[in-house]
Amino acid sequence: MKQQNKWREKIVYFMKDRYGQNDVLNKHILFLSFVSLIIYPFTNYYIFLIISLLLLSYSYFRTLSKNKEARKKENEAYRKKLSPIRFQLLKFKNRDSYRYLKCPNCKQKIRVPKNKGTIRVTCPKCHHEKEMKT
Ligand SMILES: [Zn+2]
Repeated sequence: MKQQNKWREKIVYFMKDRYGQNDVLNKHILFLSFVSLIIYPFTNYYIFLIISLLLLSYSYFRTLSKNKEARKKENEAYRKKLSPIRFQLLKFKNRDSYRYLKCPNCKQKIRVPKNKGTIRVTCPKCHHEKEMKT
């Protein structure tokens, strides 16, 4: 029991000032590393094994990095690039219950319930009002 606590303390001390987060970027890096590792035995191309190990190393580098700000920025930049894809997925998921329209004034995307006939929509950004078919 005492030995266990000692190890635990050592690990806590080691991770103290490190990033240590399994953020979205890390999850995707690990997923790609795993996919590359799965592909390798079927193709016998060493490049897949190398890619897998490089991605795994990068993931560990990010987790153990002491530069938390830089890692957060990387993750935010990645999430920003990913957001249009996430929006399309959300749109597809809600395709039966919502319609996505654009405000004619400021081009803001507006989500409205589907099959409610013609309704008066107020843009949340510029407060422009318009009758829209749903
Ligand atoms: Zn608007």
